[in-house]
Parts: sequence; structure tokens; C-alpha cells
Amino acid sequence: MEEGIVIVGGGFGGLAAAKALDRAGVPYLLLDARNHHLFQPLLYQVATGFLEAPAIAYPLRPLLRKGRFLLARVEGVDLKGRRLLLEGGEALPYRHLIVATGSRPHDLGVLGVGEHALFLKTLEDALKIRNRLLKVLEEAAWGQKSLRFVVVGGGPTGVELSGALAEFLRYVLPRDFPEIPGTEVHLLEAGPRLLPAFRPGLSAYALKALSGLGVRVALQAQVDRVEKGGVVLKDGTFFPADLVLWAVGVRGNPLPGLPQDPRGRVPTDPYLRLPDHPEVYVVGDVNGLGLPGVAPVALQQGAWAAHNLLRTLKGEAPLPFRYRDRGQLAVIGRNKAVAELGRLAFAGFPAWLLWALVHVRELIGFRNRLLVLLSWALAYFFREPGVRVLWGRP
Ligand SMILES: Cc1cc2nc3c(=O)[nH]c(=O)nc-3n(C[C@H](O)[C@H](O)[C@H](O)COP(=O)(O)OP(=O)(O)OC[C@H]3O[C@@H](n4cnc5c(N)ncnc54)[C@H](O)[C@@H]3O)c2cc1C
Repeated sequence: MEEGIVIVGGGFGGLAAAKALDRAGVPYLLLDARNHHLFQPLLYQVATGFLEAPAIAYPLRPLLRKGRFLLARVEGVDLKGRRLLLEGGEALPYRHLIVATGSRPHDLGVLGVGEHALFLKTLEDALKIRNRLLKVLEEAAWGQKSLRFVVVGGGPTGVELSGALAEFLRYVLPRDFPEIPGTEVHLLEAGPRLLPAFRPGLSAYALKALSGLGVRVALQAQVDRVEKGGVVLKDGTFFPADLVLWAVGVRGNPLPGLPQDPRGRVPTDPYLRLPDHPEVYVVGDVNGLGLPGVAPVALQQGAWAAHNLLRTLKGEAPLPFRYRDRGQLAVIGRNKAVAELGRLAFAGFPAWLLWALVHVRELIGFRNRLLVLLSWALAYFFREPGVRVLWGRP
């Protein structure tokens, strides 16, 4: 049976489209390979034990009012036949399609990343990092040896991850692992400054704040390859590491059968549609209009695509997408963040407070907001990441 409107992906973009259709009272089908929406901006806190996984995930079904949900992995699109090809061999015909399949980690062609480094993109990735972190701590405590962690990439994710890691170690080590003689957290950035998308003054603040937390930042440090036990830089320097976290590139995650550019993004017209297939909209990280891969772009494009689709259903012309850039935030650690809002730029406690408020507001569901606030309050006042459980083999 043909479906009218099908959305693939229940992330920020797909869910924004679904909400716009809900508000218009128009039915649709939402497909996702997982049954929950994931709030990726706080994944690093799950990886470092400051949050439990369920605090940043929310089931998709109760979020849909006019829509139905299908748990399914889409393996391709047959554009001519207007069919989605599902895992398991089933085909699902559609009349209108909104693709919001996001992005995936990218090794940028650096050898050894897939084998020896850990990514941060899904809940499974975050739990894997946390487990590996706790495991190397246990091993180091038993062997009474020092540990070295390397985070690659000085963008927001690398800065957040290395800052949280340093705070985790600072809180947990003296009490839980006094046998470990020392730990080091290194952050490697290929360019001349951290947070290159922010103003130079805020990059300088981030560098100082991270150094204050004990993170050793190396700028102009280009990684040539990752090996078992460490990272080799382009200049030949070997950085031994017990854990390598790869926070560098992502590329679009287009459905097979869609055109894509070298960054894995799908080129669209300004209305967010495939040029030769106006019935197909592409939004969020996978859209190829050249905007940054951040949640506000996905949220705005998802809603815009749904509105354009509704306009065309009424016989009206679609409108070209316009992005309203409200600024950007990045957190470094407790009381430390940077904020850029139009011409306004600030750092420190006010930026951190704004970051915390924005993230709690954007989280889905009262229960998740409460869980996050409680966990943050515990970490803030008692200086301890609450989640330090290792899922070992029985
Ligand atoms: C660690 C990390 C930190 C981040 N921090 C920030 C931040 O602080 N601020 C910010 O603005 N942005 C941040 N981002 C980026 C932000 O999360 C993305 O820009 C945003 O999630 C993009 O939304 P989307 O809808 O395009 O994709 P996503 O939110 O990734 O959703 C894609 C959905 O599609 C589903 N899907 C994918 N392929 C298939 C398939 N074949 N079949 C079925 N379903 C499929 C997935 O399961 C997923 O639910 C961060 C990202 C990461 C990874």
C-alpha cells in the first residue's frame, strides 16, 4: 500500500518535520532504525559518566500525534519507482518523502582510526567509551601504572570531551583509584586554534580553560595514523595512548540511491528538494546546501520542508529556505563555556549557564529534563560523576 508522506529519520530534522505535520493535522509515517530520538549534544556526558543513557534518549512513538511509526532500517531509495527499500527485502511506496538520516563519523582517510580509535555518535558509542574508560582505569589501578588519553579534534565535541574527561579523572581518581600514579589528557588539533568556528578570543579562552583543567593541548598537530597503543603525527611524533577518542570529522549519511557530494551530503535546490524529484526533501546533516551540521539547522530545515510540502499540497509555491542563525555555544567544563550570539561574545559562568539552560530546554520530555538537572546538580555540588558502572563479562 502506498504511503502519502514518509519521513526517514527521527532525529532533530525528522522530528521537526513530524511536529509541523502534526500541527497541520496531516498524517504521515515516520521510519527510524531505532525506536528513540537521541539528544546527541549531551552524548559526551554519557561517555564520561555524568549522565545515564536514558536521560538523553526519548521513545519516538509517544511523540507522534498524527503520525504512525515504523521501526525499520532503510537500505535504499528507488527514486523512479518512488519506493523505499527496507532491510529484509520489503519495499515501501511513497508519494512524498522527507529524508533526515543525519551524518556518520568519518576517519578523513587517516589509517587505523576504525580499528584503534573510538567515535562518539550513538548511545552505543558513548557506552563503549565509558566502559573502555572504566576498564583501563581498573587495569591501571591493578598494575599501578599511569594512563594517557588522547582526544583528536579541537572542535566543540573534542573540547567538550577532553574537558569532561579531565573533570571525571579529577573527581574520581583520588577516591576510587588512588593506586594510579597519574593520568594525562591530550587534545590534538590540526589547525592553529581550538574551536575554529568561534572568534579567536573565545578560542584563546577555551585553550586557557582546558589547560586549567589539566588538558594538554597540542595545536598544528596533524594525525597521520592511529596504531595500537598510540597516535603518530604527520611530523613523525608518536603519542602513546591508552585510549584514543576520535572527535574530528563527520560525513553525511545519505540513503543509497540518492545523489551525494564528496562530503556525503545530498545536493538540493533552495526549497530543500532534490532538483529532479520535487517530491523528495532532504534536511539536516545530510542536506548539501553547505550549512553547518548542527541541531538548529536540522530543526529549522525539518520544519521548513514540512511547510513547503504542505504548501505544494495546497497548490501554492514552495519558499526558499532561510537559516536563522541564533549563534553558537560550546562548553568546556564546570562553569566554563563560550557563547557567540550575533555580535555578542562572552565566556565563563554566564556562557555556561546559558549553555545549560538551552540544553535543558531543548531536551525532549519532562522526565529527561528532570533526570539531567538532577544528575548535573549532583555533579555540581558533590563533584562526582554519578555513573561509574562497568558492564563486565560475567
Ligand atoms: C557528539 C555530538 C555532539 C554534538 N553537539 C552538538 C551541539 O552541542 N550543538 C548542536 O547544535 N549540534 C551538535 N551536534 C550535531 C547535531 O546532533 C546534529 O547536527 C543533528 O543531530 C542533526 O540532525 P539530523 O536530524 O540531521 O540527524 P540525526 O539527529 O542524527 O538523526 C538521524 C536519524 O536518522 C536515523 N537513520 C539514519 N539512517 C537511517 C536508515 N538508513 N534507516 C532508518 N533510520 C535511519 C537515525 O537512527 C537517527 O535517528 C552534535 C553531534 C554529535 C555526534
